[in-house]
Amino acid sequence: MFNENGYECIFQHHKNVNKSAPLKCKNVNCSQNSINRIIETIDKAQYCIDMAMFTFNSTELFEALKQAMARGVQLRIICENSRAFKAGTSIWMLINLGAMMRGPKSLSLMHHKFCIIDEELRVEEICLERGRRTKPNLCNSCIINGSANWTIRGFGGNWENIVITTNNVMIKELQAEFNRMWKAFTISLEPVEDMKMFA
Ligand SMILES: [Zn+2]
Repeated sequence: MFNENGYECIFQHHKNVNKSAPLKCKNVNCSQNSINRIIETIDKAQYCIDMAMFTFNSTELFEALKQAMARGVQLRIICENSRAFKAGTSIWMLINLGAMMRGPKSLSLMHHKFCIIDEELRVEEICLERGRRTKPNLCNSCIINGSANWTIRGFGGNWENIVITTNNVMIKELQAEFNRMWKAFTISLEPVEDMKMFA
């Protein structure tokens, strides 16, 4: 949960550079605890992350995704084009690091805030693309889904909820919708030279 009590302890966390320490925070509403749980989940990704996010500028989650890509995790992003085009945004920086991005050409909003990690069929697809014919050992398939955009504001006092679950029915439903959107949205952004300095 994210709520108005989540930031009572934030100055303590900012002073403490030890990442494991915030997990012991006694504030039951601690936003940092919740952010850390998302980071831990991203850290377990081995093959692929598919993210549909209206807007995204969290530095901490950007770092977690950047590290995932550095260890070979394939990242696909569906977002609102207007948000991605802003110079220096996290989405631009991820595109420059090799993430693929698509968005709708529509007046309606792509308003989802979910992320699918290592869904079984996607993992098999990626292994095939990489020339591995044997079925991979699975794998921590899960989804992160909720009301919050992964933004400073989303985690910074808004009333929001995020659920992390390994429920297979929910994983399959969201993956199917992600795949459907990925095919339907043809707009895709390419990295530009100016943006490389932000990467
Ligand atoms: Zn705390």
